[in-house]
Amino acid sequence: MSDAKIFTTSDGKVIKVQIDRDLCIGAATCVAVAPKMFALDNEAKAITLDTGGEESFQSVMDAAKSCPVAAIIIEDEQGNKIYPA
Ligand code: SF4
Repeated sequence: MSDAKIFTTSDGKVIKVQIDRDLCIGAATCVAVAPKMFALDNEAKAITLDTGGEESFQSVMDAAKSCPVAAIIIEDEQGNKIYPA
């Protein structure tokens, strides 16, 4: 599990984004959907990028939903789970 990082999306929503690196299989669909937020590191596992806030909330949600193993966890500011529901 990576550390949860807090982002303010381009449309002003504050979210915490975390990646379960044990689950991640490096499929990179998250990178294709939200390239400012996600990248693969040298272990071919997803990481969040400092530029993540340049993505819209919907793009980050679409990326999380695109992950075949549901390894992207999104919470609101208070730590309430937004995705996976
Ligand atoms: S889509 Fe999921 S499995 Fe693929 S790289 Fe992103 S987090 Fe990992």
